[in-house]
Amino acid sequence: MKLGLLGGGQLGWMMALAAKPLGIECRIFEPNRECVASQAAKHVCAQWDDLDAATEFAQGLDAVTYEFENVPVEAVEYIASGRPVFPPVQCLAVAQDRYHEKRFFERYNVDIGVWRLVGTFKELESATEDIGLPAVLKTRRFGYDGKGQVVLHPGDSLTAAWDTIERRPAILEAFQPFTRELSCISVRSRDGEIRHYPLCENEHEAGILKLTRAPGRNVNEDLENQAHENARRILEALGYVGVLTVEYFEVDGRLFANEMAPRVHNSGHWSIEGAAVSQFENHVRAVCGLPLGNTSAKGFAAMLNIVGKEPPEAFPELVGAHLHLYGKSVRIGRKLGHIGVLSESEAEREAAIRTLAPYAPHLTG
Ligand code: AMP
Repeated sequence: MKLGLLGGGQLGWMMALAAKPLGIECRIFEPNRECVASQAAKHVCAQWDDLDAATEFAQGLDAVTYEFENVPVEAVEYIASGRPVFPPVQCLAVAQDRYHEKRFFERYNVDIGVWRLVGTFKELESATEDIGLPAVLKTRRFGYDGKGQVVLHPGDSLTAAWDTIERRPAILEAFQPFTRELSCISVRSRDGEIRHYPLCENEHEAGILKLTRAPGRNVNEDLENQAHENARRILEALGYVGVLTVEYFEVDGRLFANEMAPRVHNSGHWSIEGAAVSQFENHVRAVCGLPLGNTSAKGFAAMLNIVGKEPPEAFPELVGAHLHLYGKSVRIGRKLGHIGVLSESEAEREAAIRTLAPYAPHLTG
């Protein structure tokens, strides 16, 4: 079987690595010649609007998927006219624009915080009056890892915030007084079966994921039910196939969705060693029409991101700790790798996190 991947970052690389033992060969389409995934898959290197290259890429593929949500919808639609593309193209249109995403969440009764659409400075002024401060101003499109967003505190200059996001179409969100952040990674097969990974508990620094614990600590059935019910409604509404991630703020035991990603997710990297079947393998299985694999955790897993700086060379010998380096050049704020951890108890996991923290720098500038 041959699977096409749109985008060639580390998510594509890990997907291609997971596909190989299933006898599935991956081919990637990615404009960046030096991309990470080209280490593990054939690479068609061209701009997204190069239709000749897209035709060459699509030749002989059994299915096509994507590993990042900012692939231009037109490119995906072109490929979808000749090949099965999963998740369906409409998922991209929803996830690429925070306004459409909020409206989608509201329509399918997924709880979200208070928000306003901001297209002009005047609208920013009235939105801050309505919502109050603190609040978070986010561009509608192309924001990720804390980019394209600014937190507004009482007394801050609205003009400066508006300039920071380059006066782009935006939304203003009430600042959530969350006790923690969680994410739910789910997968839906072509025939509609849905499975969920255990809820992940995530810590961010400067808007970039730093640490994931899976299962999260003290995750009760009620939290899990909220997340699973939301995922089911979203997956079914979109006729979704593949892995979907929904990120949440937990406030007083209630989950408020922050955003969703129509793809495998950084908070699911722990599943490579920590779950019976990883998010990457399950995504490949789903989009290729294979039966889904077991999503349960094999113990107490964690993931520490390596951001902006190479880790020290002497990685410690620690049972259950696995280093993954993506082979990228170093840049502040860039995800260069991660450490996967699998422990037998929560206490052991906490000890491993403490031991490994110096090996997982987080330089965000
Ligand atoms: P995002 O790019 O929307 O995922 O935001 C990155 C991170 O910024 C989140 O994971 C939170 O840690 C923080 N953040 C974003 N939006 C809010 C909000 N409305 N209230 C509080 N923190 C937020």
